[in-house]
Amino acid sequence: MNKEDLYIDGKWTPRQGPQTDVFSPVTRARVGSVPEATAGEVEAAVQAAAAAFPSWAATPAEERAALLNRLADLLEERRELFIDVIMMELGAPRQLVERVHVALPLAVLRSTARLARNFEFEETAGNSTIYREPIGVVAAITPWNYPLHQVTAKIAPALAAGCTTVLKPAELTPLTAYTFAEAVHDAGFPAGVFNLVSGPGSVIGEALSLHPQVDMVSFTGSGTVGRIVARDAAGTIKRVALELGGKSASLIADDVDGDFLAAAVTASVANAFLNSGQTCSAWTRLLVPASKYGEVKALAAAAARKFVPGQNLGPMISERQRERVREFMAQAEAEGFETITGGTGADIPETGWYVQPTIYGKVLPGSTLAQEEVFGPVLSVITYQDEDEAVEIANGTVFGLSGAVWAADDSHATALAKRLRTGQVDINGGRYNPLAPFGGFKQSGNGRELGKAGLEEFLEFKAVQR
Ligand code: ADP
Repeated sequence: MNKEDLYIDGKWTPRQGPQTDVFSPVTRARVGSVPEATAGEVEAAVQAAAAAFPSWAATPAEERAALLNRLADLLEERRELFIDVIMMELGAPRQLVERVHVALPLAVLRSTARLARNFEFEETAGNSTIYREPIGVVAAITPWNYPLHQVTAKIAPALAAGCTTVLKPAELTPLTAYTFAEAVHDAGFPAGVFNLVSGPGSVIGEALSLHPQVDMVSFTGSGTVGRIVARDAAGTIKRVALELGGKSASLIADDVDGDFLAAAVTASVANAFLNSGQTCSAWTRLLVPASKYGEVKALAAAAARKFVPGQNLGPMISERQRERVREFMAQAEAEGFETITGGTGADIPETGWYVQPTIYGKVLPGSTLAQEEVFGPVLSVITYQDEDEAVEIANGTVFGLSGAVWAADDSHATALAKRLRTGQVDINGGRYNPLAPFGGFKQSGNGRELGKAGLEEFLEFKAVQR
């Protein structure tokens, strides 16, 4: 799948720069290529977005919402194409791609359209009318782990709010973004409201973060790059929304026993291994009472056996990522943590950037493994003596993105959830909600995506007094 044109000002524009290859993490073969945008093309994309802004901002929210629904219809019609493209460049197994990678963006598009239609863009306070107005040109910089969702979670609310957009997708999974751009084009959005420029983040992403006509950068990715984006954006006082890493805890209370304990452990393992652990909100630490360690160990090992690399568990996105994950594993083993399952010595499929799903036990809360984001299918089981210690461990990282609490009594679970310094908590397997604000406390980022908060992220206040 070779894409030779950039999408600028409502047109597919023949590239001026070189092409970059895209590879399958399953076969390691080249599967396509996309252009590296030049400085001139980035400039043209920003100019197109700036020129399109006044009339898009003035378009009734109802009409913007109708176009988002039209886009959702097209994504649905092209479901099989999106499944193929995501499987090809991300390497995730089909079932996961259908259930999460494609289904979630559809839900987000439709719920964002509904929110925009019902949103109060105007309210009164005393002698003021307060208008909520779109912030302007938004640069969306996305990572590779959920190639369609990451794009949709930024572009849908930005467009719904009346902003115009320039998308810079991840280098490793740009083909999904091109397939998305084709759908945007066919949906009939006005020229310039959405533009796509691909290429290296350090060049294209930097140009967008520095650009005086970009009003906001919405970034998802690593903390390292998030800091660079925030610094680059500071020169022109842009709004910056950052969705960064996590080291979320699943906290099992002492009163969880029997089948309930089995369900809690099984769900926690599945969450840690979701998308091969390449999920920023993954519960990568499982906090259990020391007295239940033996039981948890057996349950966790049994749950992990259901994940088979090459069958229902995809590879790491790249050789580099695989090496990184294996370094974390090697260090954990050198530190003497118990290998409950998997580990560096376990067999892995020959082709593809696979690692064995791995669980380490009795991991020390302050260790590298328990503090840093691994971004692979590696779970740390940590024991605690009492609940205060459990909460302290849960909150004892620089992150605060997500988490889980398991407890027999709902008010006990709620009390525990309230003590966690994190953007989301699921109680006793609470279902994923695309309307819930998603984002982090502390170094997991600032701002929120999805739901009403995700829409408001792209709005300014204007107070008018009479
Ligand atoms: P990940 O490894 O999860 O993709 P990164 O933080 O490396 O996380 O990348 C996230 C996004 O940021 C990618 O689209 C990448 O191209 C882009 N990026 C990388 N470096 C920069 C930079 N200096 N400025 C802006 N964006 C960048």
